[in-house]
Amino acid sequence: MNIDKRILMSPAFLAQALSGKRLLEEEVPIPQKCFDVLRSTKQLIPTPAIENQKGSVKCIRCGNVALQYFSEYPCGVCQQNHKYCRNCIQMGRVSECKPLYTWGGAAVNWPRHSQPLTWTGNLTTAQRKAAAQLQEAVEEKIPAYLCWAVCGAGKTEMLFPPLTSALKRGYRIALASPRVDVIRELLPRMGQAFQGVSIEALYGGSEHRTGMAQLILATTHQLMRYHQAFDVLIIDEVDAFPYYLDKSLMYAAKQAVKKQSTTLYLTATPRKNFRLQMKLGKLPHVFVPLRYHGHLLPVPKFKLAFRLTNQLANQKLPNAFRQWLIHRQNPKRQLLLFVPKIAMIKELKGVITSLLMEVDAISAPDQLEAVYAADEEREVKINQFRQKELHVLITTTILERGVTFPSVDVAVLNAGHDVFNEAALVQIAGRAGRSADDPTGEVVFFHDGKTDAMEKARQMIVEMNARGRKI
Ligand SMILES: [Zn+2]
Repeated sequence: MNIDKRILMSPAFLAQALSGKRLLEEEVPIPQKCFDVLRSTKQLIPTPAIENQKGSVKCIRCGNVALQYFSEYPCGVCQQNHKYCRNCIQMGRVSECKPLYTWGGAAVNWPRHSQPLTWTGNLTTAQRKAAAQLQEAVEEKIPAYLCWAVCGAGKTEMLFPPLTSALKRGYRIALASPRVDVIRELLPRMGQAFQGVSIEALYGGSEHRTGMAQLILATTHQLMRYHQAFDVLIIDEVDAFPYYLDKSLMYAAKQAVKKQSTTLYLTATPRKNFRLQMKLGKLPHVFVPLRYHGHLLPVPKFKLAFRLTNQLANQKLPNAFRQWLIHRQNPKRQLLLFVPKIAMIKELKGVITSLLMEVDAISAPDQLEAVYAADEEREVKINQFRQKELHVLITTTILERGVTFPSVDVAVLNAGHDVFNEAALVQIAGRAGRSADDPTGEVVFFHDGKTDAMEKARQMIVEMNARGRKI
């Protein structure tokens, strides 16, 4: 049966497809006739997409009020110039003469699952404690709750108890992340853990399109298409780019939840505003300072490399880095090497390959690869590295989080560069020692002048370890 017939035949299907959404007409996935009927019967309710009152303008979808992000275009229908929002244009053009539609029809009764969890693993003590807190936040409808869990704490598993509780209550849930890699990695895991629950993953280019599942996994941008939809919203990697810099994503997250709802924030590296709120007692939170395997986080070593910036610019490897590379404690361990710029990747790839071949650290040039954001082979190379088909992977900050390799050493070349802020460095260090079989791993920051970010990153790791020891 095709989707159009199902929609025309089933009011329940319509309600499920459209409730909790706020969409442009062209985004409503139904035939025109059906759309007209729903509008005339007030089951689809138009609301202005752009408020324009007394000189102040606001985009209702993304919350943009900055005049420089509005432009005008001549409207083909009413022959006037209309304002449109450039800030959220990638989600389709929102303009003065095109309303957004919300659902005014029958409410949806999402299934109350009696035993939704099909995962049979066990949580560690630290995970269980945090999970109980998160579950309570959901059950008590606490509006905002933060889980500060170190890299490798096993956040996803900690979500199972609160998700189970929410699904038993017939709640609708969204799990959002600024990082598409995180959503891609979560879909199969959630599918496995909640086999009888409808789940969709929404991101640019995803296979799923309707967004009508009970459990939605989505990039934070996708939340702009929802309005008062979710009883529980979980934002993973809340401190990651672009969420922490983009007010419109925070606005979208607030718009997407019901008036009585819980938003759970997950992070390994909370930014200043969250840390301040926690300190002031304004944000309830739970702390998970220990990795799931019970070992402490590897503490980064700082290695001074004189004239590092100069040498890298001349495609030369600084001596401190050469020596470390040749004499690594465990040369069999894979190496994840972070550099600040894409251009540098291409320049260094050849030099590092030659050196590693010379000292027999790799036996063929194709054991070393480089990966960056716009790389079309990105997924393939990451998988090859995960399968241990590659020995060395050179990368930019795109691999700072959201990807897990079991056993790697981590080096940062020019850790003092601006792109490596405190959170990025903590996340990068957190790539090492992820497996219970090899829980250590070296983390080395090469620099030619320590920065505040480096010091603070190391301090954060040391503090977490001190807390972890007390467990
Ligand atoms: Zn907008």
